[in-house]
Amino acid sequence: MSQKVIDLLNEARSRELTAISQYMSQHYELEDRDFGKLASKIKEIAIAEMKHAEKLAERILFLHGEPTSKPDATFKKGQEIPQMLAMDVALEQQAIQIYNEAAVACSAEKDQKSKGLFEELLGEEEGHLDFFENIKNHADKLGAAYLATLTGK
Ligand code: FE
Ligand code: FE
Repeated sequence: MSQKVIDLLNEARSRELTAISQYMSQHYELEDRDFGKLASKIKEIAIAEMKHAEKLAERILFLHGEPTSKPDATFKKGQEIPQMLAMDVALEQQAIQIYNEAAVACSAEKDQKSKGLFEELLGEEEGHLDFFENIKNHADKLGAAYLATLTGK
């Protein structure tokens, strides 16, 4: 079993733990500011990231490693929606880059199963990026009129 692969899986898990707390925090803030429609979508993404963190832990345990419980970054609270979305776009872009590189590295370590896990996560992170980019583009182009459509339940 490769320590390198365990380290890559744990780096990814730290990234997921950052994403979980960032999206949970945003979801609570948005809910509080009555942007319920955006909040519920971000809550869904937070839950998807929780599943990613669990899948990574399962793989780490299978390889006899110890799953980390430390996030790899902090994030700003209390931001306006466009800044929030810019932070989310950046987080997903970084995850995509990290997971692409990790998939290649797992292949070099001859661990196809771990590679497959990174590829599975990549597909979902690309979906998240797409979601955040679309909302951010609308908010940038249409401004307050668009943001108003995200209010309420
Ligand atoms: Fe994820
Ligand atoms: Fe994601």
